[in-house]
Amino acid sequence: MAAVTVWNENQHERATGPADAMYPDGIHATLAKILLSYGHTVRTATLGDPDHGLTDQALAETDVLLWWGDVAHDAVSDAVADRVERAVRDGMGFIPLHSSHESKPFESLMGTTGVLRRREEGEREHVWVVEPSHPITDGLPAEFELERAEIYGKRFDLPVPDTLITVSWCDDGTVFPSGCCYRRGAGRVFYFQPGHETFPVYYQPVVQQLLHNAVTWAAPSESNGPSVGEC
Ligand code: ZN
Repeated sequence: MAAVTVWNENQHERATGPADAMYPDGIHATLAKILLSYGHTVRTATLGDPDHGLTDQALAETDVLLWWGDVAHDAVSDAVADRVERAVRDGMGFIPLHSSHESKPFESLMGTTGVLRRREEGEREHVWVVEPSHPITDGLPAEFELERAEIYGKRFDLPVPDTLITVSWCDDGTVFPSGCCYRRGAGRVFYFQPGHETFPVYYQPVVQQLLHNAVTWAAPSESNGPSVGEC
């Protein structure tokens, strides 16, 4: 089991409204509870904490960092974003969720902007597992549905993933690469698109299983990093 830090900007949920109603203690608290139930050690951190809760020591004690950001990407200090990027390259697992595709650490790790098309109307999203032998999809059905989701569409300004795990499809035919694996230095990165703040995506057991699998996959191991061996 991994030592996990769940980071959330925690902006939508602090105002009374649909996000607060869906995730009353914040998305970070919901994600923490899920991962605790699978046996991981979990702490949470938010934008409002000193150093956003991501000091050198906190990152050194983190195997896998989950990141949820949306409206406050620019409020994340460059120093903290750089610290996260370095930690990933040194071996920490990193799982940016949903609108974190435009977060500072993810952008700098990818070298792209992460911009995409989006539509927030609570439509049905079909998530297809396209890599059933991958550890992140272990125990998942071949396809599952999210009854209400924010739909993302291509073009998605990300590098082609090392491994594409899931592809999402909307009833109007929109398709999107919703589960993307990357390696950066010694660190493993998994971007997962579902998870809008006003829709109950993180309450679905199949999504919870996938997140647990992703944490397990992204946790550092001896074999993660590139090795030059001996001449
Ligand atoms: Zn959203």
